[in-house]
Amino acid sequence: MEDDDLFFQTTFNDILISPNDQLFENIKRPTCQHCERPVQTCLCSHLPDTPLKLKQTTVYVLQHINEIKRPLGTVQLLTKCLDKESLNVIRSKNFSSTKYPCMKQVYNNPYTLLLFPNQNSSPLDELLKEDFYKNKHITLVAIDGTWNEATGIFNRHNELINLKTCYLKIDKGSEFVIRTQPTEKTMSTIESIAHSLKYTEQNDDIYDIIVRPLKRMVSMQLDMGACYHHDKLTLINNNEFKKKCGKKQYRRLLALQH
Ligand SMILES: [Zn+2]
Repeated sequence: MEDDDLFFQTTFNDILISPNDQLFENIKRPTCQHCERPVQTCLCSHLPDTPLKLKQTTVYVLQHINEIKRPLGTVQLLTKCLDKESLNVIRSKNFSSTKYPCMKQVYNNPYTLLLFPNQNSSPLDELLKEDFYKNKHITLVAIDGTWNEATGIFNRHNELINLKTCYLKIDKGSEFVIRTQPTEKTMSTIESIAHSLKYTEQNDDIYDIIVRPLKRMVSMQLDMGACYHHDKLTLINNNEFKKKCGKKQYRRLLALQH
């Protein structure tokens, strides 16, 4: 297996930690052994006492390799909230079953749903009410990366294109305000998965349990001077987006707003 292309489960979280893991961290500080955050910004008191074991869902996160280098990735927090049978993270650019034979059963499973909003996707809550999905064990696949990276991964993999896609009906913005979201109705990976599990696990409390450490991390970063990031679409619409945005990209952002 190549060094930069690893399949790992929740026990291998140390791979995700980089010295740049904190926005204002230039020198290596003592790290909490449990949450693996710098001791000063330890999140343990906001994590579940023991990682949650899901009853009705198995989660696969396909993480773009670039996501590892980004500070404050949210999948790292997710690995502290869910147990290793419930959550699998694959870090790569190529997620084919030829490369990862374990993915074959995921791609061939009729109850696998890909969290990816596109023109063919259905709202997850409505989908789960259909007889076909009702009370079935769901395998939920999410792609972790920037929107462009996630779209690239999707378009390069027929096995992903062939999956049933779903999206979430969201009535409030992301809590992850220290990183720019594509639109005001898109969420970070941890929030999207937490939101999905509310439906697949039929558990109203699970969202708050999983998002709690994220909220704490964000509030600590804001206290330390991190900037509040507005979503890209709002910035473009207000002529405040500093980079160039082509028509194609703008249309893609609009399409994200179900
Ligand atoms: Zn800790």
